[in-house]
Amino acid sequence: MKITGLDIFIIKTKVPKDWPYPVASFVEGGSVLIKVKTDSGLFGWGEPSPYGSPIEIMIKTLMDEMRPYLLGKNPHDVSTITQQDETKAKHIYGQAAWSSALAGVSQALWDIIGKEKNLPLYKILNRKEEVSNKILTYASGGMIYESSSVDLLLEEALEAKDKGFTNWKFRPPSPVSNLSHFERNKNPPAINTEQLIDVSKKLRQKLGDGFGLMIDVGCRISDNETAIMFGKVLDELNFRFFEEPVKRNIEDYHKVTNQLSTPIGIGECFFSAHEFKKWVKADALNTLQPDANFAGITEILKIADLAKEYKKEMILHNWTNAVSMAANAHLAAALPECSMLEYSITFNPMRSELITHPFEVKSGYLSLLDAPGLGIEIDQKDLERFCDFKDLQ
Ligand SMILES: [Mg+2]
Repeated sequence: MKITGLDIFIIKTKVPKDWPYPVASFVEGGSVLIKVKTDSGLFGWGEPSPYGSPIEIMIKTLMDEMRPYLLGKNPHDVSTITQQDETKAKHIYGQAAWSSALAGVSQALWDIIGKEKNLPLYKILNRKEEVSNKILTYASGGMIYESSSVDLLLEEALEAKDKGFTNWKFRPPSPVSNLSHFERNKNPPAINTEQLIDVSKKLRQKLGDGFGLMIDVGCRISDNETAIMFGKVLDELNFRFFEEPVKRNIEDYHKVTNQLSTPIGIGECFFSAHEFKKWVKADALNTLQPDANFAGITEILKIADLAKEYKKEMILHNWTNAVSMAANAHLAAALPECSMLEYSITFNPMRSELITHPFEVKSGYLSLLDAPGLGIEIDQKDLERFCDFKDLQ
């Protein structure tokens, strides 16, 4: 079997004008979908991370570098084709664009392999004693504006609990901003720690002791001392994890991790097991949070090996659209090191309306269909509806 083509799409949608909550920047800003085609007639879908590079750089990387790199290759060589290797990074448009493009290709090639074998990926990749299509998810939301009442966080958490979720994650309130993800990451907006302590205590009180609470600070705490002070409150409140407290830096994470009993999570933008290994060896994290749209499927298998070797927990990051979600879900079902899968409850119709059989979570569990490969079918009409750009070759 040979790769004969790579179709590239940008998908995006409008957020209703009166939508009261912040929304991930890629929903309106756009993200990329790819279709790898072969001479056998089989094709596979993939979704690179919108956080790897600005979208125009991702498109150039796919058109100028990835397409010629892939043509003629055999999808069965997925491990060598999609090997993430920072020392070999000599790409015109940058490492992060190339890495997340490779991650998307990894999803597509595994989709093709599964379709050829007529088996869902979670069965092909399974490392559990018993094969299961069920995955424990956590509700990921808790996004409000600074101008909103923090009571909205309590309402959302209680609603998630009512729906059967046993775990829910929230964020510090966001300023109203038109900044892209990249601009915002250069200068993360400051947060009101006192208010956050207050709301964390209220959440624990309202939700009860057995409910899993976690917070993703998005690297917004400006110094280690404040992160440790806040983390000690989370320790007392028995939080499930504390994600990205400060800017991504191994020494700082080592200091914060070692002062707290609440697990520190990081890794949504790490593209390789090699990168995770540096952090794990430096004792700078507790919970590995890779995403199949940045690391790719093959690399996450290696990251799971690392988690096993160092006895660390893995909770897959999962925040974008339907194709990446499928890839992450199959990995979560297959890997015993993965204890939970993130499940976004924020506004994004491209997570459900792009595919013919949307994912459903019941009582906190997502069940995968028995369809081959990634187990999804893209609805052509809906793809056209969300499509903002395409280049089919
Ligand atoms: Mg995060």
